[in-house]
Order: sequence, then structure tokens, then C-alpha cells
Amino acid sequence: MARYTGPVCRLCRREGSKLFLKGPKCFTDKCPIEKRNFAPGQHGRDRKAKIVGYGLQLREKQKAKRMYFTLESQFRAYYEKASRAPGVTGELLLQQLERRLDNVTFRIGFAISRRQARQIVRHGHVEVNGRKVNIPSYQVGVGDQIKIRAGSAEMGIVQGAGEFAGHQPPLRWLEVDRANLVGKVLALPKREDINVPVNEQLIVELYSK
Ligand code: SF4
Repeated sequence: MARYTGPVCRLCRREGSKLFLKGPKCFTDKCPIEKRNFAPGQHGRDRKAKIVGYGLQLREKQKAKRMYFTLESQFRAYYEKASRAPGVTGELLLQQLERRLDNVTFRIGFAISRRQARQIVRHGHVEVNGRKVNIPSYQVGVGDQIKIRAGSAEMGIVQGAGEFAGHQPPLRWLEVDRANLVGKVLALPKREDINVPVNEQLIVELYSK
């Protein structure tokens, strides 16, 4: 399946909740969820049936996948790995999603959204422990240092993102030095550190059928 490149607000409307895919706009009344909170498409307004059971599990999985911009095969691979590891499967699944380099680039404030962070990583503007890494799904570990590369620091999107991120609450598992555009992973994120509106237990139930 190809990666979705269409308007991201449609994804939120499809899920019926804010997925925060656009940065500052998501926090304003221009957010389409504030004005048109019904599914996109000609018959979007008419779909009022209550979603239960499998449908609910599926929507929860789609929501997580869309928030982190992952494809089905990759998302499933995260689940498989989480289910084999000791610990709470749902939490380990979210932890892997949070440890993606594009997500961490977003979390430490080098981009206003995960999608923009993905682009910054793909274009080679980010280094991990002094080495360029342009793989958005790269898993960061404890102690890793994430930095915007010399020469990329002046980019307008990075500077703009810094202003936006300055208003966000700090994260316990990440240390950020905004002046030098450097971040460090202090610990692996626990469930309470991951503020995404997803019920991961429903995803586990879906995949473990
Ligand atoms: Fe979703 Fe943000 Fe668009 Fe609102 S503005 S619909 S939260 S991506």
C-alpha cells in the first residue's frame, strides 16, 4: 500500500478525533474537527452508526498508524516485536512508535508535526550521535543524541518549529537544548509519557485474534 499523501485533516475527520497532524493549526478554531466533525465524503454526515467490537479495534489501530505515519506492514511488525518481548504489549508497541527518529525529531521541537519531521529526516538534516541518519523509522535508544546538522540549523521550518515547541510542556524522557538544536534520550518512554489519544489495548485485541 502506498503512503498516504493527501490532505491530513481528512484523516482526523475519518477518525472523528484530533490526531494533531498539522502543528499550530490543530490548536486553533480553524481545525476542521471544530467545524465539521463528521466523516469526509459525500455521505460523511449520514454515517451515524455506533462503532463497536471489531470496528472499534480497527479504528483505534488506524488512528495510531495515521498519527505516526506508518504503513500497515511496519505497524504490524512493531506489534509482533512487542508481543514477543517481556512486558505490556500495548505499551511496548507505543514505545516503539515513540522511539522512531521522525517522532523524536518532532517531540524535541525540530518540526511542527510528525509529517514535517519525517521530511526533515528524509532530507538528511538530522544526525544521531554525530552521524547523519535519514531513516524516519530509525529507533533511538537511551543516551542517543539527536541534532540538527550544521548548515541545516538556519532553515526556516526548524526556527519556526522552535517557537511552536517553546509553548509545549517538556517531556520527562527527552532533554532538549533549543539554543544548540540538540536533544538527548534520557530514558525509554513509559505509557504516562506518551500523550496520544489511543487505546492500545484495543489494537492488541485486534492483532491477537
Ligand atoms: Fe487534525 Fe490538526 Fe487538521 Fe485539526 S488541524 S483536523 S487536529 S490535522
